[in-house]
Amino acid sequence: MQMNRFDVIVIGGGIHGLTIGLLAAEAGWRTLLIERRRLGGGATGGWFGILHGGLRYLQRLDILRFRASLVDSRWFLRAFPELVEPQPFLMPLYRRGLKRPAVMRAAMMVNRALGPDRNMRVPQAGKVPPGRVLSADDVARRAPLVPRTGLRGGALWHELVVPDGPALIAALAARARAAGLEIREGVEAQALRHDDTGRVTGLSAGGQDFEAPRIVNAAGSWAPELAGRFDPISTTRFAPPVLAFNLLIDRPPPAAEALSISDGTASDMLFLRPSGSRTFAGTVYLPQEGPADTARVPEGAIAAFLARIERALPGFGAADVSVVSVTSGLLPGTMMGETGLIDRDILLDHSAHGGPRGLVSLQGIKFTTAPSVAREVLRRACQR
Ligand SMILES: Cc1cc2nc3c(=O)[nH]c(=O)nc-3n(C[C@H](O)[C@H](O)[C@H](O)COP(=O)(O)OP(=O)(O)OC[C@H]3O[C@@H](n4cnc5c(N)ncnc54)[C@H](O)[C@@H]3O)c2cc1C
Repeated sequence: MQMNRFDVIVIGGGIHGLTIGLLAAEAGWRTLLIERRRLGGGATGGWFGILHGGLRYLQRLDILRFRASLVDSRWFLRAFPELVEPQPFLMPLYRRGLKRPAVMRAAMMVNRALGPDRNMRVPQAGKVPPGRVLSADDVARRAPLVPRTGLRGGALWHELVVPDGPALIAALAARARAAGLEIREGVEAQALRHDDTGRVTGLSAGGQDFEAPRIVNAAGSWAPELAGRFDPISTTRFAPPVLAFNLLIDRPPPAAEALSISDGTASDMLFLRPSGSRTFAGTVYLPQEGPADTARVPEGAIAAFLARIERALPGFGAADVSVVSVTSGLLPGTMMGETGLIDRDILLDHSAHGGPRGLVSLQGIKFTTAPSVAREVLRRACQR
């Protein structure tokens, strides 16, 4: 067997590429993953660490995403129980829109009814109790800085979180290597190779040629540019980028629970998660124009986020806090120059519009749902 001949080549060592590589190798495919920099160095390194359990999707009645999030977050917990843990979340409730006690009580009931299998075959330490609605006094006791005026109560539920993201990526890579995945870091995909009929035959990457009849482009925010190079007419099928960032700030967490709060100015909730003796705050979305490599979080946006936190939680001291680190990445958005995010993964089989046969490109929207996205990618790319 030739060293550079594979059944599948995956481009990109983020959570999507790694999960695709793992599942392909476990299915018995001879699989190569190439990453131009280092594993988990793209948007995957900038995530906020929540494996969403699905509650957030109930407000727009997106049952498919609810179920995918539940099943996939549970997959991570079962596969890496020592790296995933439940964390309580508290959302103070006022008399605003859907975020009222009566609505949240109903949401918790639906959450239970649609997820009776949430704790199925998970280790004891990973089991999450049902969500509930607390009184205003209870919220004030748990989170004393939360504004009291108009406070009606609070929603308390659990999400699975990953305190150490790089450790999860390393564990995933180790499991994938053990299943036979070959991983090469520092190797950049350059050109697609195909025969006269348009069937994919391989890839030129890092100055070498690799043979494979199936290529998965899982290059995250670089996927559209790469797809355009391999198949110029595909460029209109991808989503434009939105820049997102979080801050690790040097201030003790305002509560034992992670807080989901609003400063009343934006529709996005902001989250403050305990991270040891510090607070991890996220997530802010900014318009991104220009190529993915030019994305930078402006100083002014950091200051504006700290001011938002201070408005939401007066007295927390966010305005004069020191920022330990900024983590960021690009996500697929709805429109160039705006901050809305798409709510479905983009999965493109290029042969469907007459492009190269054997090439599939992906723009994934969540770390959480990488396992089900990976299964779908492989179903399309690897039909025997
Ligand atoms: C601030 C922020 C907070 C988030 N919080 C959460 C959260 O709490 N929960 C959640 O579920 N999701 C969250 N997300 C979303 C999640 O992080 C992303 O959806 C996910 O990490 C994207 O993974 P990916 O593998 O598609 O892309 P990436 O992680 O960007 O990986 C793509 C990889 O491809 C490589 N690459 C690019 N071009 C080439 C090439 N030519 N050759 C070889 N390699 C190449 C890049 O170097 C990169 O490593 C968050 C995202 C951000 C930015």
